[in-house]
Amino acid sequence: MKLNQSVTTLTGIGAQTASRLHKLGIYTLQDLLFHLPLRYEDRTRIYPINSLVSGTTALVCGTVEFIDILPRGRKSLICQINDGTGALSLKFFHFSANQHNSLKPGTLISCFGEVRYGYAGLEIVHPDYQIITDPNAYTTETKLTPVYPLTEGLSQNTLRKAVKQALSLCQQEPGLLTDWLPAELLKNASYPSLADAIHTLHAPDETLSLTDLHNSKHPALKRLALEELLAHHLSLCLAKSLAKIWQAPRLSADTATTTAFLNALPFQLTNAQQRVIQDIVADCHQAQPMMRLVQGDVGSGKTIVSAYAALLALASGYQVAVMAPTELLAEQHKRNFSVWFQGVDTQVVYLTGQLKGNARKDALQRLADGTAGIIIGTHALFQEAVHFHRLGLIIIDEQHRFGVHQRLALREKGQHGDSRPHQLVMTATPIPRTLAMLQYADLDISIIDELPPGRKPIVTSVIPAERRSEVIDRINSWVAKRRQVYWVCTLIEESEALQCEAAEKTAELLVQALPDVRVALIHGRMKNADKDAVMQAFKNHQLDLLVATTVIEVGVDVPNAGLMIIENPERLGLSQLHQLRGRVGRGADDSYCLLMYQGPLSDTARQRLGILRDSNDGFVIAEKDLELRGPGDVMGTRQTGAIHFKIADLERDAELLDSIPPIGAQLLASNPAAAHALCARWLGIATDYAEV
Ligand code: ADP
Ligand code: MG
Repeated sequence: MKLNQSVTTLTGIGAQTASRLHKLGIYTLQDLLFHLPLRYEDRTRIYPINSLVSGTTALVCGTVEFIDILPRGRKSLICQINDGTGALSLKFFHFSANQHNSLKPGTLISCFGEVRYGYAGLEIVHPDYQIITDPNAYTTETKLTPVYPLTEGLSQNTLRKAVKQALSLCQQEPGLLTDWLPAELLKNASYPSLADAIHTLHAPDETLSLTDLHNSKHPALKRLALEELLAHHLSLCLAKSLAKIWQAPRLSADTATTTAFLNALPFQLTNAQQRVIQDIVADCHQAQPMMRLVQGDVGSGKTIVSAYAALLALASGYQVAVMAPTELLAEQHKRNFSVWFQGVDTQVVYLTGQLKGNARKDALQRLADGTAGIIIGTHALFQEAVHFHRLGLIIIDEQHRFGVHQRLALREKGQHGDSRPHQLVMTATPIPRTLAMLQYADLDISIIDELPPGRKPIVTSVIPAERRSEVIDRINSWVAKRRQVYWVCTLIEESEALQCEAAEKTAELLVQALPDVRVALIHGRMKNADKDAVMQAFKNHQLDLLVATTVIEVGVDVPNAGLMIIENPERLGLSQLHQLRGRVGRGADDSYCLLMYQGPLSDTARQRLGILRDSNDGFVIAEKDLELRGPGDVMGTRQTGAIHFKIADLERDAELLDSIPPIGAQLLASNPAAAHALCARWLGIATDYAEV
């Protein structure tokens, strides 16, 4: 008997019910046990009818006095019961002839539902009822009744019965629900054992507080949430240690090569950049794969740091793949890398879906035979049949745009025998420390905490949309100074088509309002070649004003563009706004960002925009954002591949987060088998220890 056996082994669960359960993600007995109720109903006590209060939910017992079908208005079945203290109407809008016949006057029934004032006094609409044939044998429930999340075609009753069976199996075989949390921890936090927690949550004693259960404050639930969060953290810790069993090529470059490379740059590396490069040099020198995250605020110069890593690979005879989240950014990396590697004997290949026919064949050929040392592209890079000659390093830019699991899956790419490429991932989006353990615990982290010299802070103002004409004037005088402008249209619309349409309209309006300004539009649905042409023209200052959707959020680098207008900033997350704003302030000149909101603003929205106005520091902004919005939102909107929890809720369980890393470390040290088992339980990850 195992908890990973199929739900079909339970009585009453056939293929059809099983397929409905699958829709809820329930395949095994264990899935069933971890499918927790949404709420509970108290059917442990019978309420006298004269004690009922409108708005409460109650169990009532009474004898049918009369039953009738009312044709008035919507056809309904009315049944009045009396328990000696008073009368109550039961009302059904959907009913069968059978139902009508079975509720004859004199029949004793129990019914449960929400009591309301109706046409003729207190009534319950569509009560859950039961005919009592033998009053002596009738008992009320001894436990609170669970109400589960359902799916079409599945009834509460079916689910309740299935869970009951699974629970009683666990009671017969107490070893089934192994408790992997340390006993010490359970004791200190007064948490129940796993088996107790599961039993309590599915079938709480009537004495338990419904309020506690509904507010999810109960220790049984906290314990499960803790266990789930811990499992996610542990899976990353294990990924980190498992990565160490792989070999990786040692990458290094001689001083002549690195000096020549650095001397050719138009700037000197900052101290922070040099420090991070030292971390990378040390990692790449190891025979195990590097797995390093470089975190640095927008504009801190992460790209050149990654290029240095690429140099190490090239100098050691290995190839490098650079992955960016958008074509626009990939395109820009191609330009930068092409310039930086001019003095190095290699080719830079840019691979997009657009590349067709012989050009594509040729690019793939050059990768396969090793003529091309660097390949740059979007994630399509890894979805295609790209064969590398000798891939030694994978660089992932703006990693927050990719999900945790996407990143982990990438590790297997470029695997060669028992060797894997080194990995360097970069992000401008600082993740507060408490959340990092759920996202980055598998990575070593280096931080670039310094901007290149001479950058002036961006001056940000928050202004209402009514002042649009002032903004237009400001653009005119800015352009007269030979400087360039971004105008960013945000739209919460899911559809990219709508976003682009809105941007098109704005561009038209701006062309009219600004006859002397050279305006162009860029959005995600344009052909790559067109996007490219616009971007290039903007870079060459053949354009003054670029109207854009949030496609320009990452990477775009045009130092002469020092004024940005963001329309409806209240619709975006703070970190995203900060990232967008990072497109300006890239040169030595003054730069400005106007957050042009659509009033009225809520208090929180006002506060949030205020944070952005007052700070240019991505870390500060992320922390404040976390305070205001809570961890669930921050993580959810930041990541396309956001983590989905079964039970834990980052908002509700925020107080648990800090305790996870130390518990994880202790468990890994004292009982690694438990760590593996927890991952298997919560993430379905099979490890060698899963069967322990
Ligand atoms: P991000 O960290 O946001 O990816 P980039 O790598 O795009 O930043 O760098 C932003 C700009 O700063 C680029 O124009 C880049 O060439 C320039 N840059 C990078 N490092 C330095 C430096 N040490 N001194 C001056 N400019 C630098
Ligand atoms: Mg960048």
